Amino acid sequence: MKIIMLGAPGAGKGTQAKQIADKYNIPHISTGDIFRANMKAGTELGKKAKGYIDHGLLVPDELTVDLVIDRVAENDCLNGYVLDGFPRTIPQAECLDQALSLKGEKIDYAINIEVPDEDIVNRMSGRRACPSCGATYHIVHIPTKVEGVCNRCGSKLVLRDDDKPETVKRRLDVYHKQTKPLIDYYENKKVLMVVDGTQDMERVFNTIVKILGA
Ligand code: ADP
Ligand code: AMP
Repeated sequence: MKIIMLGAPGAGKGTQAKQIADKYNIPHISTGDIFRANMKAGTELGKKAKGYIDHGLLVPDELTVDLVIDRVAENDCLNGYVLDGFPRTIPQAECLDQALSLKGEKIDYAINIEVPDEDIVNRMSGRRACPSCGATYHIVHIPTKVEGVCNRCGSKLVLRDDDKPETVKRRLDVYHKQTKPLIDYYENKKVLMVVDGTQDMERVFNTIVKILGA
């Protein structure tokens, strides 16, 4: 099962993708997580990506596409995967489709999590992320057991630099201009599924499971 998560930044793609990956036993591949890990490790890719990410801009396609195409060719992806944050542009989607079609494969579901812009700024300013294990929480909607501490690994949680309100506005703008056209792209491929992302996270997940099958 090859799944793409679509939606604005902060719509809940990562939250749902992690649960999908656990339930269906497929890898969760987040380009944002890959870039952040590279930034933390100080790699060349991390240094190049940082300038774009900190300004709320997309990392150029030439730094992003091969990374994902190589990743989905790995052995743990044989039974499928859930892509979170990729593709984010039409050229990225076209490159992915081309690479898959060479192997006679295709994307099975593009799940669009719909959340209005008004809710996004609130979601992002309340998001807290674990820099060690990648878990994400929300200070009001998805709180941790101990304030500011990861439930899973006990690390101190952080507010991502790019979740500050001025950067969130830029990211939303970029989403509308560069990423939203993917909704029509996948609708034309007849794989688009739309989910109301304003429901609580269990309801969103139950809706997704109904789409994917138990
Ligand atoms: P994305 O991966 O799309 O950027 P996240 O999954 O990180 O978004 O979610 C953004 C923020 O919203 C996080 O703080 C997360 O805990 C919270 N969140 C996710 N799903 C819901 C939901 N259904 N209701 C309320 N808050 C949510
Ligand atoms: P995310 O964690 O998915 O919100 O991604 C964080 C940031 O990483 C984005 O705002 C972009 O700057 C960058 N990024 C992640 N995925 C992509 C992608 N597919 N194409 C370009 N930039 C990306």
